[in-house]
Amino acid sequence: MPFFRSALFKNIVWGTLVLFVAVGLFSLLGEKAAEPENLTLNQVAQKLAAGEVEKITVRENELALDLREGKKAVARKEREASLTESLTNFGAGAEDLRNVQIDVVNPSGWQVAMSVLIPTLVPLLAIGLLLWFMFRQARGTANQAMSFGRSTVKRSSGQERIRFADVAGLEEAKAELTEVVDFLRNPKKFQALGAKIPRGVLLAGHPGTGKTLLARAVAGESKVPFFHVSASEFVEMFVGVGASRIRDAFLTARKAAPAIMFIDEIDAVGRQRGAGLGGGNDEREQTLNQILVELDGFDNDTNVIVLAATNRPDVLDPALLRPGRFDRRVMLDMPDRKDRRAILDIHAKNKPLDKAVNLDVLASRTPGFSGADLANVMNEAAILAARANQKKINQLQLLEAVEKVVLGPERRSRVMTDQDRKITAYHEGGHAIVAASIEGSDPVHKVSIVSRGMAGGYTMKVPEEDRSYKSRKQFLAEMATMLGGFLSEKAVFGDVTTGASSDLKEATAVARKMVTRYGMSDLGVGTFGQTQEMVFLGRDLAHERDYSEAVASRIDAEVARLLAAAREAAEQVLKVNKAALDAVASALLERETLEREDFYEIVKPFNLEQISVQA
Ligand code: ADP
Ligand code: MG
Ligand code: ZN
Repeated sequence: MPFFRSALFKNIVWGTLVLFVAVGLFSLLGEKAAEPENLTLNQVAQKLAAGEVEKITVRENELALDLREGKKAVARKEREASLTESLTNFGAGAEDLRNVQIDVVNPSGWQVAMSVLIPTLVPLLAIGLLLWFMFRQARGTANQAMSFGRSTVKRSSGQERIRFADVAGLEEAKAELTEVVDFLRNPKKFQALGAKIPRGVLLAGHPGTGKTLLARAVAGESKVPFFHVSASEFVEMFVGVGASRIRDAFLTARKAAPAIMFIDEIDAVGRQRGAGLGGGNDEREQTLNQILVELDGFDNDTNVIVLAATNRPDVLDPALLRPGRFDRRVMLDMPDRKDRRAILDIHAKNKPLDKAVNLDVLASRTPGFSGADLANVMNEAAILAARANQKKINQLQLLEAVEKVVLGPERRSRVMTDQDRKITAYHEGGHAIVAASIEGSDPVHKVSIVSRGMAGGYTMKVPEEDRSYKSRKQFLAEMATMLGGFLSEKAVFGDVTTGASSDLKEATAVARKMVTRYGMSDLGVGTFGQTQEMVFLGRDLAHERDYSEAVASRIDAEVARLLAAAREAAEQVLKVNKAALDAVASALLERETLEREDFYEIVKPFNLEQISVQA
């Protein structure tokens, strides 16, 4: 905190102010008293002689003169001499004195006291006030030390008028959260059916996808007390402080139950335990343990639901994710074109747009943009328009703003040129077509060229039913599907990009596992090599070789053979189904995301030929 905003500074300013006012008042009073004309005794004697004086009031050495015509004057006499003596010395005749009324007033006790006290008291008072302010501040610091273990949980005022309507897209997430809010409002309805109220909901998604925004919308919609805290506030240097803050935060929420508690950026404390090298993370572990305890500790009828947000669900401790804790997970995806349009609409609300502005164009020009990026685009455009002294934002400024945001320092990796988009469309299309055509593969669930993290796009396959075991055929189909992206790029563009590297790595890993762990190769039954979890390296595996060089080279040969077989099948698929691939790629370029039904609709007319991997 800068000094000029500190409490000490404020107090000093206040103290000085009080001092000034006091001094000012005092001198003002002094001036008032000095208003009447100040006369020397000489002059008084002259005025007496001239008969201008009506009355003299003597107060110790002070003379207050009432002159004719209502005028007033003051004068002082010598301390030792009496008034008449003095005046006579200055030449006033006895005659003159006789015509004047002379009052001698003995000053009352309090007047004497005041005349002494006020000049001394006022500065003292000012200094005292200053000291008091300072002490108060010091006491505040002491209190702060006492409340070190208190949480900084804040209760939402309910003033935030953010509603679900202010959050574009994210329909699934909204539906899930609406249900959670419903739980809180009507717990009886659910309990009557024996349903347990969910304890925790984890919002996961890339930065800027609207996690915090959604939580604030829940606060605006829920009509139950909403507490929010950032997990980083639990991280302190001293062991145990975080845990005690968690305890305190939950206590506060429980007192207000039914209530919602929102922990933002939970990965700050929720990282997998025991994953650091050496010690040094005791504090975070204790904090996490306390969260776990609090999540478990609710009585069944205390209605506190914990919302948490993270953009790293992969690093969270598994204990956090087990049923009864954050068992509900809501994924917030990067917005696709339709959602981007809706987000732009929301952020264009209070901005005057030129009539010619076309937000659809803007939406299609911004693949890979998060909600936060889009909000930023609208804002940058408004700034550009203001700089140009315009009343409305025009399309050119919007497009310039897009460029500005794209070229911003952190976004460089996300720039998607038209060529990039095309390559991505064929890459993902390749995955999807192979998945749909290889025997043993899971059906395509979703294909998208909206980037996710490092990947340009993604293809999701979801098994028809839950399975505990995977067959050899399924592994081979999986490998062929993984290679589909790479091979499609190669077939269409005659070149390959770095985008396929993780596919290749994964396909190789599957092949190696088939050979060394599952006995699914010609090498026969038996496992090769020992893997064990190394606690201090987190989830990394250490591999220990327990076979000879000769076996090692046979393993490598088997892996290569399986990969080649998968590759051959995938290439075959892409060749015979090229027309379907083209159709899917162009649909992806246009719509960016294809749901399962959309995808199968598109490929249906092509009657995909089913092929199996021969290995
Ligand atoms: P994070 O997921 O990192 O917590 P935020 O919720 O803080 O992201 O989002 C940052 C900003 O981006 C929001 O304040 C909002 O202006 C904008 N934003 C993000 N997603 C959306 C959305 N779906 N609809 C409207 N605005 C959004
Ligand atoms: Mg956030
Ligand atoms: Zn891929």
